[in-house]
Amino acid sequence: MIFTRLYPLNLCSQEKFMETIQFKSIFLVSLLSISMSFVCGQEVHEYVNSAGIINDHKLVMDIMEQRYPGYNERVLGTFDRNNYVNMSKGAKSTLHQVNVVFHVVYQDPEENIPDSVIYSQVDVLNEDYQRLNADSVNLRSIFTPIAGKPNIHFNVAQIIRVPTTSTFSVSLTGLPDNVKETASGGSDAWDTEHYVNIWVCKLESFFGILFGYAYPPDGLSNWPAGSAAPSPELEGVVLDYRSVGRNNPVPFDDGSGGTFYINGRTATHEVGHYFGMRHIWGDGGGIFGGDSCGEDDGIADTPNQGAQSNNNCDPSLNTCIDSVGTDMPDLIENHMDYSEEACKNMWTQMQSAFMRNVLENERQGLLNAAAIEEKFPIDFSLFPNPASEICSIVIPTLDEVGELVVVDLLGKLLFTKTIAPGLANVATIPTNKMNAGIYIVTLRTSSNAMSKKLTVY
Ligand SMILES: [Zn+2]
Repeated sequence: MIFTRLYPLNLCSQEKFMETIQFKSIFLVSLLSISMSFVCGQEVHEYVNSAGIINDHKLVMDIMEQRYPGYNERVLGTFDRNNYVNMSKGAKSTLHQVNVVFHVVYQDPEENIPDSVIYSQVDVLNEDYQRLNADSVNLRSIFTPIAGKPNIHFNVAQIIRVPTTSTFSVSLTGLPDNVKETASGGSDAWDTEHYVNIWVCKLESFFGILFGYAYPPDGLSNWPAGSAAPSPELEGVVLDYRSVGRNNPVPFDDGSGGTFYINGRTATHEVGHYFGMRHIWGDGGGIFGGDSCGEDDGIADTPNQGAQSNNNCDPSLNTCIDSVGTDMPDLIENHMDYSEEACKNMWTQMQSAFMRNVLENERQGLLNAAAIEEKFPIDFSLFPNPASEICSIVIPTLDEVGELVVVDLLGKLLFTKTIAPGLANVATIPTNKMNAGIYIVTLRTSSNAMSKKLTVY
């Protein structure tokens, strides 16, 4: 159960928590955004917007401030604009390839998201980072001249699944980096210099919903030395399992009777942080401080925006008057806003140049990794589906031995069959011996897997 809303009176009545708030209040100026906050006396705490979503970047920044006093002040230094102007001159045509390792760390079976959801997520990343996403046509025409593409392609190197009894909770003093450590019930990173590590787990928090988080790279001029991930093996992205992919079977409860619209854009956003992106509104603003047009994301071609868009897709939002040129509305289509995933569809040219430059410098090890053969999910078809008497599974020719597995929603194994390579196969599932309900059919080989839902009536 995730607590999705703040309960200020109760929280403020707790002395221990009050101490934490007072400690945190030292760092509240600046980067940090919200539109829902709570007040304890004069203390304002800013992590959660009115949609109950935790500002991932603010949280990381505050925790880093505790570990490295003075961190926020240094980070708030303006971007060196010359840096990204120069970056944009680099060759943009090369499609950069990076390899990704997914770690699925789960307690409940539903947290163990199927490969099909992970591959869907990788599709989203590849589309968004190459501007191949179908919804790019929804970008308002006023912004089409600044739309860019980072031109980065993500390959799945491995999917690691780790059952655990640990929980992964965010608090005001720590991030759930235990998900990155086998000894703490998580999964040790693969060589973070050469692989993008993405951990998928259930993120818990008592004060809001955290979709994911990522550490920015070390070594950028706008980031102080030694201030990114506390250690190299913690580099990477963490995602809540319900935020992954656009075919995620588990609804993401928004805490107010509805569900979030999930389109795989949390990973796009967090990978953006991983490549050095700041939030488009510059992490200023908030419900008590109003819009903060003085805070900038350091990217020249994004319009000035004073607050995050609060899970909204309202095209009339215009929090700041742009001081140069035409006044532009807020860029709710940008991946580094907090608008609803339904309307996010673009990077700007400068953001794209910045991320490519980070990849070519601070994260160049990713480019030096051995090329891997891209793996595509194995497809198969179920007929009929829903099924009553019997269900046929048509399997294309495999190049290695495969295994067909049917489990119920609790993960109980009901049926398994070995599939020989080199031949087209038709297997049958005796659905007449199964109870009515939903089942998961998985075809896997040593290097690949695909899952589909089967309904038995
Ligand atoms: Zn963020």
